[in-house]
Amino acid sequence: MNLSRAQQDAVVHKDTPALVIAGAGSGKTRTLTAKIAYLLEKGFSADRILAITFTNKAAEEMKTRLIRQTGLSPDNFPWVRTYHSACLQILKKHAERAGYTSPLQILAGYQQQKTLQEILVRLNIDKKETSRLQYKISMAKNHGNPETFIQNLPEIERVQTLEVYRQYEKTLQSINAVDFDNILLKVRDMLRDQKDIRETYRELFQFILVDEYQDSNNLQEELTRLLLGHGNLFCVGDDWQAVYGFRGSNVNHFLRFKETYPDARLFRLEENYRSADEIVQAAGALIQNNPHRMDKHCYSEKMGGTVELYYFYNENEEAKWTGRKIAKLVQGGVPLDRIAVIYRTKFCSLAFEKVFRSMNIPYRMLGSKGFFERMEILDINAYLTAAVFPKDDASFERILNTPKRGIGPAMVKKMQQVRSSGDSLQDAARHLLGKRMLTPKIHSALENLIGILDSIRDMTPDTAIREILARSAYLDYLEQLSKADKGDFTARQENIEELIYTAGQKENLVAYLEEAALVREDKEEDEEKKGRGVNLATVHASKGLEFHSVFVVACEEELFPHWKSMQSAAELEEERRLMYVAMTRAERCLFLSASEFRRGRPSESSRFLAEVQAVIAS
Ligand code: ATP
Ligand code: MG
Repeated sequence: MNLSRAQQDAVVHKDTPALVIAGAGSGKTRTLTAKIAYLLEKGFSADRILAITFTNKAAEEMKTRLIRQTGLSPDNFPWVRTYHSACLQILKKHAERAGYTSPLQILAGYQQQKTLQEILVRLNIDKKETSRLQYKISMAKNHGNPETFIQNLPEIERVQTLEVYRQYEKTLQSINAVDFDNILLKVRDMLRDQKDIRETYRELFQFILVDEYQDSNNLQEELTRLLLGHGNLFCVGDDWQAVYGFRGSNVNHFLRFKETYPDARLFRLEENYRSADEIVQAAGALIQNNPHRMDKHCYSEKMGGTVELYYFYNENEEAKWTGRKIAKLVQGGVPLDRIAVIYRTKFCSLAFEKVFRSMNIPYRMLGSKGFFERMEILDINAYLTAAVFPKDDASFERILNTPKRGIGPAMVKKMQQVRSSGDSLQDAARHLLGKRMLTPKIHSALENLIGILDSIRDMTPDTAIREILARSAYLDYLEQLSKADKGDFTARQENIEELIYTAGQKENLVAYLEEAALVREDKEEDEEKKGRGVNLATVHASKGLEFHSVFVVACEEELFPHWKSMQSAAELEEERRLMYVAMTRAERCLFLSASEFRRGRPSESSRFLAEVQAVIAS
């Protein structure tokens, strides 16, 4: 593999921690992969190398590259993982030491919400507060010291948030479950407080490597430090691309690397191998408007790139022009899947989807609603979850009347009333069945449901799903929905087929549900749609990727920068970094566009366009 001198230096550096600081497209990820290959060549054993990526997709890509470069066999492979997947493995291994029994349940977003909602009802807090509190609690956990974070909230939120947080944690503990943030938090606690476990991993990992290091939050940074014993650390990142502040990431870890690791070596890469110089210069000029940033010199040897700005009457015109331009690019020999349409705000994709469909331009969405977030998949997973985790009320409640079997809210209420403290809804249902306290119709419906759960518990995942379909009339229900214009039956059926296939790769329900939980949380995950097409992606989903031609669309005030981020100077800088990420995905052609009217209302073109315009005009 070709490496520049500077990249090579970073690869062969040894003995002290190292940080590679460089702009987009300068080969950071490539250098990191080359470093792993180099370590293996030098005789490091694969299972003693831990490489951290931010998404499952990035982990997959890195593994593919490694296999190509080193011919490694898959059963002797370094840990190439997200923080969550690495920590889950550690947590499972020492579940009892962390205060859990096995198997451990990982809560999905909706289960988390349901749990919170019940707490809010109990505490007489408006249910509308659920999302806000969920977000606050997540921020608090990613901060590393949840209680301290909450104590520092403004007075009016403090008491309430703390109470909800404590009750929520208590509930999770009582049902032997963790949410996504807890996977990291509990492992941090364990490594911090239990010396023997900490030493085990410190002995194990000789090398830890982190990609996109600028996006680490406090908790992730602390985990890295705890895992790092006598081993060595190699991080790569770009402070100009720090875009996860809203999720608690803290670019200061990146900026203060040298303070944390005084003997660290810093490496800088300047040449951009991805984009033509026109694009590098335009993106560089944009980011100069951010007062808080490191200085970096970036250039490219490639010339002949295009940076163009366009203004349209409305979103429909913008989409049609984009479609025509794409057709021209394709005629000129650019493959469809090397073209991307990137937007800051999700809803903006719709105008493009419609026009592309009418123009017969195939497209696929990156980072759209992931496979495991779709209704039918969540439903099936709720059956599987209720079978192996009978204490999980959210899943049981979800399937009680899905498909409709006459067990409505009144029945749920009844179950809640008859259960004694500590009992789950499912316990209550079994109790009611045993006492024969129900009308014959409801009795037999409930009996059928419980029967399904009992019979699938020990089946393999694919058999279990077939059993659910056979005994629950779920497919009929989907068909009914589709007739009522609620969802596409064929697509849903296909998704379930796909699920049977995917789930069938796992040996049991617990293993399958674990995997589903990890993938589901990975917002950058590709939609599992096969086939090729133009890529539609949010800026966040486009991170780390590259395309021949990029259209950054809907560049309007309130959309990009997003209205939620326009009040604070720091958040506005994060918006500008997002624009920097979007622009630097392009290799040859970059088109930035805005509309005067969107959804029938006047829209003002983005300040970022003016900033870019200033340089391309000169
Ligand atoms: P980002 O900040 O967007 O994540 P990056 O710094 O990680 O970018 P890479 O994705 O590693 O950059 O590299 C960008 C492109 O340049 C890739 O196509 C990569 O293969 C190529 N590249 C990197 N280094 C070299 C090199 N020395 N010679 C040729 N091509 C290179
Ligand atoms: Mg990269």
